[in-house]
Amino acid sequence: MKKKFSKNKAYSKEELEDSLELDYLVEPSVLETFVDYCKKVLANGTHGESVRKMNTEIVTGADNVWLGIKSDAPDFDCRKGCSWCCHQSVSVTWPELLIILDYLRQNLEPTQIDALKKRSKKKADEILEKLNNELNGPFHKIPCLFLEDDICTIHVGRPLQCRGGFSEEESYCKNLFEDTENTQKAVESGLLRGKFLIIPKLIYNSAQVAMTYTMKDFGMKGSIYELTLAISILIIKLCDGEADTIVENDLKPALLTQNLKV
Ligand code: SF4
Repeated sequence: MKKKFSKNKAYSKEELEDSLELDYLVEPSVLETFVDYCKKVLANGTHGESVRKMNTEIVTGADNVWLGIKSDAPDFDCRKGCSWCCHQSVSVTWPELLIILDYLRQNLEPTQIDALKKRSKKKADEILEKLNNELNGPFHKIPCLFLEDDICTIHVGRPLQCRGGFSEEESYCKNLFEDTENTQKAVESGLLRGKFLIIPKLIYNSAQVAMTYTMKDFGMKGSIYELTLAISILIIKLCDGEADTIVENDLKPALLTQNLKV
């Protein structure tokens, strides 16, 4: 799909780069429906409440589309406690981050938030080092900040990219984790068939792209961020009592395109 956010507006080079190339993996009619959802919500304003509502509605919409066709999709091997795919960078948008931040505020004690702050700083440094020095794209192999005992601790508020990840075979994900380069090469050369289900990927990716397009159309940044890098910034604000003054511009150092060397 051509990278075009609006028929009527010219976008700067920076705006286009900030969006990352996620829109190659969308289902056009689903994307269009989701953009309509998003536009209706943001028509009421681009303040935090609207942005959160847009995310909640888009997650429900994507879940419903997936549930409607799930029974016709190939079987998948994903289960609680399997976390091979939780060792790579996760692409997130501003609305998704606000929802995660709300979840942390509502569910963690101040001491746990403080511990998360320290952990996120350490993880962010490790991830930055890996992303800057390796050529495996997002596959840094560092466990996600929210992974504990192989279980996602923010499951109900997890990002769209995590919701859309389904694999036909656990062994494929294990190989991708343990031998990323050769597994990717085997898929690219046709020696191995990729085992991630394409349909949920298209649905949830379309949902995320719809939010970025719509935010840009409403004069917002609509960028894509690296989950841990973004949380490490937001959690400092939260600990400093500045959670309600957070703006998307605060996340500039966490832009995925800026940190991903591929
Ligand atoms: S947010 Fe949850 S599902 Fe997503 S990578 Fe992290 S631990 Fe895994």
